[in-house]
Amino acid sequence: MSEADRRLRSESPERTEAIGAEIARTLGPGDVVLVEGDLGAGKTTLIRGACRALGVSEPVTSPTFTVGVRYAGRVPVAHLDLYRLEDLDAEVPGLLDDYLTPDAIAFVEWPAPGADLVAATVRVEIEHGGGDRRSISVICR
Ligand code: ADP
Ligand code: MG
Repeated sequence: MSEADRRLRSESPERTEAIGAEIARTLGPGDVVLVEGDLGAGKTTLIRGACRALGVSEPVTSPTFTVGVRYAGRVPVAHLDLYRLEDLDAEVPGLLDDYLTPDAIAFVEWPAPGADLVAATVRVEIEHGGGDRRSISVICR
């Protein structure tokens, strides 16, 4: 992504999905997008919009019982949620290798526990603004 860092406003889940789709259009294989924000901020919603734009038609929900899932889109898409990584053995070598492959575009929810394991190309921070309002920062490397 080559644009400057941006702070966007969203007033609806649909708008957050559209922002995800806009981010997706700037990505290519090997890109990793970290998506930060509290529970209910809209991380999965934004990633769902990005996945749709990348041609993923299957349901996009937070991976709950695994660290991640892979979807078939126009390119392979990986969707990780590292919330539970602190409970798992983060020392397991290659824990994320099946997801973060050079041919895939990856989205990582709750990336903090995996900060040392993941090299990001884009960071997204979502802040809850009350009701349906969200502030979405897109930070490019
Ligand atoms: P997270 O993955 O960050 O825990 P989710 O995307 O699963 O969050 O959930 C966000 C919830 O907030 C959804 O129920 C969604 O419909 C709702 N919501 C309301 N307004 C917005 C908005 N502007 N952007 C994203 N989600 C919103
Ligand atoms: Mg989620």
